[in-house]
Amino acid sequence: MREMTQKYLRLKKLLATAFFACGIIPIIIIASASIYNFKQLSINDIEITARQVVEHRNDVISTFLQGQINFLSTLIELYPLEHLQSIENLEKLFLAISKEGKEGEFVDLQLIDNTGKQLAYVGPYHEKVKDKNYKEVPWFNEVLVRGIYVSDVFTGYRNYPHFVIALTNPVKTYVVRATINSAIFNSLLLTAQIGPNGDAFILNSNGEFQTPSLQKATALNAMEISRLKHHSGTDIVTDGDFLYASKWLNGNTWLLVLKTRITDSLGGYYKYRDRIYFIVAATAAVFLFISIFISNFIVSRVEKAEQEQTALDQQMAHIEKMANIGRLAAGIAHEINNPLQLIQMQAGWIEELLQEEQAGSITHMEEYQKSVGKIKHHVNRAGTITHRLLGFSRKISTEYDVQINELIRETLSFLESEASSNSIAFNLQFDDDLPTIRTDGAQVQQALLNLIENSLDAVGSGGQIDISTVRTPTEIHVRIGDNGPGIKPEVLKKIWDPFFTTKDPGKGTGLGLSICSDIAHKLGGAITVENKAEGGALFTFKLPWKK
Ligand code: ADP
Repeated sequence: MREMTQKYLRLKKLLATAFFACGIIPIIIIASASIYNFKQLSINDIEITARQVVEHRNDVISTFLQGQINFLSTLIELYPLEHLQSIENLEKLFLAISKEGKEGEFVDLQLIDNTGKQLAYVGPYHEKVKDKNYKEVPWFNEVLVRGIYVSDVFTGYRNYPHFVIALTNPVKTYVVRATINSAIFNSLLLTAQIGPNGDAFILNSNGEFQTPSLQKATALNAMEISRLKHHSGTDIVTDGDFLYASKWLNGNTWLLVLKTRITDSLGGYYKYRDRIYFIVAATAAVFLFISIFISNFIVSRVEKAEQEQTALDQQMAHIEKMANIGRLAAGIAHEINNPLQLIQMQAGWIEELLQEEQAGSITHMEEYQKSVGKIKHHVNRAGTITHRLLGFSRKISTEYDVQINELIRETLSFLESEASSNSIAFNLQFDDDLPTIRTDGAQVQQALLNLIENSLDAVGSGGQIDISTVRTPTEIHVRIGDNGPGIKPEVLKKIWDPFFTTKDPGKGTGLGLSICSDIAHKLGGAITVENKAEGGALFTFKLPWKK
């Protein structure tokens, strides 16, 4: 039993797991693919944003630089050297550029001849540059060779970030040099920051910061160093944690780098992912519930089917056994009947002979007569037994003449020992005028046996079972009542269902009453049940009879 329960439990678990896995695995795969795709799309969005920001800032800075260069070359084109050489004129020009709203961008303006000698200077470092000769200074030589020079950003005397633009006139007889405040770059990059951990800065080709890192970094990491390779257009790379967008500007001398932590920009993705997790968890819970429900349902069906099969097998085995016993009993009864009849005849013959003897001629006449009587009595008893055995053997035959009262007595003889060992009393009230009916006595006996056995089970030790027979104009009724607990209404509804039992497994199969009702109907009768007013159940088995 325990083994069976374990088996069904295992089957339930197996089925529930299989159903659950079949339902949830595809959902997990779809959800994972959808989460992965959404993440890729979000990363693509970050890439697009970073590319747009880098290109925009690059454009603004390049336009700004080009504007300053254009401005200086316009100065050279518009004014001859003699005009610019005059410190008043240069001051006027410097003031003019400041008035044009470029205040703060130009720090100073300087005119140098092609031997490196300063010709004029306007700006705050007049004293420092007064006698300076630039002949040997690298930038001066570069501007003379290339016609233009843009320096890196440096903090200089005022400790303020700025850079230098120097230009020669077309025939390279003099150089105009301007120092330009680069703070504008810082503010441009400040608004380029993407996410709280994002960074944006400009490097020169040696990897030196031209603008301060927004995250106050002072050194470059390996990825940032590797970006210093010259590349055209906007370069986007990621190390899994950060995404780097970079673009060279200022004639490939400065590198604008934008750095953003990918996770900072994945807010939408995290929301989406959490929502999917929730949906998957909810679906899993529903699937689990359904899987358990379905597996319970299937296993209970299987369990019931197997129980039914076992009960049927038992019933079949019982029928087979009874049939075999019947055949055996018939054989024995036949064999014994013949010698019994012979003994009976011989005893009768002796009895007759003794009667013919003259009184007093045989000394122990009375004893002989008594003995012959006893022989006849016991031969009669033996005859009754063989008769019963023959009756029992007819279980395998079909219709014959049946005296119901006798059939009940015979049936009770099978149950006598069980009843007396439990001190259960049979109270019989038979209609002595009951007619003999032609019916399948074996089947009737089986039905009565079932009904009486049920009553024995119901009354328990010390109970009483009343069996009576009555006759109506068309039917013979056998009433089997007991003083057991009776039948509860909810049990009463199912009592005729095959396999319905309230008894312990192994004791009841639930087939008894369904077979009884089957037999009653097959024989043209019926069977009813009720609870008696004084307690206990009353079954009435009805069989038809004709005069
Ligand atoms: P089984 O005897 O194998 O349980 P039955 O079909 O003969 O199957 O009986 C079905 C059920 O009807 C029994 O389990 C029991 O609950 C109920 N029953 C039958 N006879 C009686 C009775 N005399 N008193 C109380 N309950 C009964």
